[in-house]
Amino acid sequence: MYAAPTLLINGIARSTFETASNVIVNPATGQELAPLPIASAEDVAAAIEAADAAFPAWSRKAPVERARVLRRAADLIRLRADDIATGLTLENGKPLAEARGEILATAEVFDWFADEARRAYGRIIPGPHDGRMVVLKEPVGVVAAMSPWNFPAMTSGKKVAAALAAGCTVVLKPAEETPSAPLAIAQCLHDAGLPAGALNVVLGRPADISTQIMASPKVAKVSFTGSTAVGRELARLAAPGLKRLTMELGGHAPVLVMDDVDPAWAAARSATAKFRNAGQVCTSATRFFVHQSIYEAFVNEFARLAKTVQVGDGLDPATVMGPLTNARRVDAVERLTAEAVSCGARLVAGGKRIDRPGNFFEPTVLADVPAHAKVMSEEPFGPLATITPFADLDEALAAANAVPFGLAGYALTHSTAYSRRIARDLKVGVVGINTFVASSAETPFGGVKDSGYGVEGGIEGLDSYLVTKFVNEG
Ligand code: NAD
Repeated sequence: MYAAPTLLINGIARSTFETASNVIVNPATGQELAPLPIASAEDVAAAIEAADAAFPAWSRKAPVERARVLRRAADLIRLRADDIATGLTLENGKPLAEARGEILATAEVFDWFADEARRAYGRIIPGPHDGRMVVLKEPVGVVAAMSPWNFPAMTSGKKVAAALAAGCTVVLKPAEETPSAPLAIAQCLHDAGLPAGALNVVLGRPADISTQIMASPKVAKVSFTGSTAVGRELARLAAPGLKRLTMELGGHAPVLVMDDVDPAWAAARSATAKFRNAGQVCTSATRFFVHQSIYEAFVNEFARLAKTVQVGDGLDPATVMGPLTNARRVDAVERLTAEAVSCGARLVAGGKRIDRPGNFFEPTVLADVPAHAKVMSEEPFGPLATITPFADLDEALAAANAVPFGLAGYALTHSTAYSRRIARDLKVGVVGINTFVASSAETPFGGVKDSGYGVEGGIEGLDSYLVTKFVNEG
């Protein structure tokens, strides 16, 4: 049922376990699932070498051939979705239905980039002397993809599918907490005909691996999804080699709940969005700014709904919210809650660890949270919502933008005037109006400010793995 992870280098699975203390743990039970393979420096070098050796043939393959491999892989991912989802739930904790949804959405990403592979073309511009000026799009080279543990399949899939579609070869480093879905997707790609070496998977000590990758002249581009702190460190390491970077970092999404909506409707949408994946989503709606005319009704209904969320093991079909993936997230949510209450916030739901094995924390709602409480600027990345009243839109926008992050922002309103103004003035990369869906295969996704730079998904997603060459034919 749970396949122990391995490294994948040049098409061959390798298991190099260093110490008994490196293990993968089920966050719903605290039980060990498997030992974690630890790539040595030689393993990482071999993975880079394999990707480099595979690059000439893969990059010169006809785009339609690359597309066929990606499309076959998408079909295999769908075929194996139940097994892959079970491994994902065991490692990450999310409800099985959410895990299955993530796997199926990842298959869509492979289908999207299979189509986009055929559109990696440039243009011809008439030259001044009857000649032609040609713009070519070429794959950037070997790509290192580093993905996180909250959506291990989707975040790995977006990087790998786009890079392979563009003609790049890849070294993937999934998060050590959740390697099974990325490895299963790599297997689907190989079973779909991807040549050995075109995709390699390494795991181990993340700082050692990324330091080695950043120092390698053979790696042309790095795409990272994770925390702003790690992103900054990677950008620093990338500077000497001038590596191209895509950075999908943290977020702290505001939600503006305007005076023209039914507070019960707004609270129901908000609570469903907040507790998905136990709030461990970079686009998770966290800071709710609610017009004072509907404030108390919104707070009461949000709190009531938070208390009804069924928390449990993701394998239990009744579970709506699973555990947090890491014990350190439980500590962070507990600390931020306590600090906010000490600043004068009103705890209206949850606020405590749940007394059972695993990393469980209650769905938590804080009202009247003052701007200086840490949770208003530090991303909780857990099942914690803050609610603050506002009197007018200018005040709400100023509060919404008063964080270093700029990933997603949302509004609940039926007013076109409000929604246009909010879409214009929220300093974020993604805006949702009456929806909390922030990403899909065909749309671009990326942040501003401390949330990073570069875009994944959509037609822009392919572009970030291509370089533009100008050929002047006179
Ligand atoms: P963290 O900073 O401790 O990061 C741990 C994760 O990052 C591990 O999975 C590890 O593999 C990876 N990592 C750590 N050091 C690395 C390095 N030097 N090189 C490459 N990878 C490295 O954070 P955390 O407690 O696991 O997660 C919480 C924070 O992470 C959140 O606040 C959130 O901002 C961020 N996060 C963001 C996303 C996203 O989708 N943008 C996803 C997951 C986590």
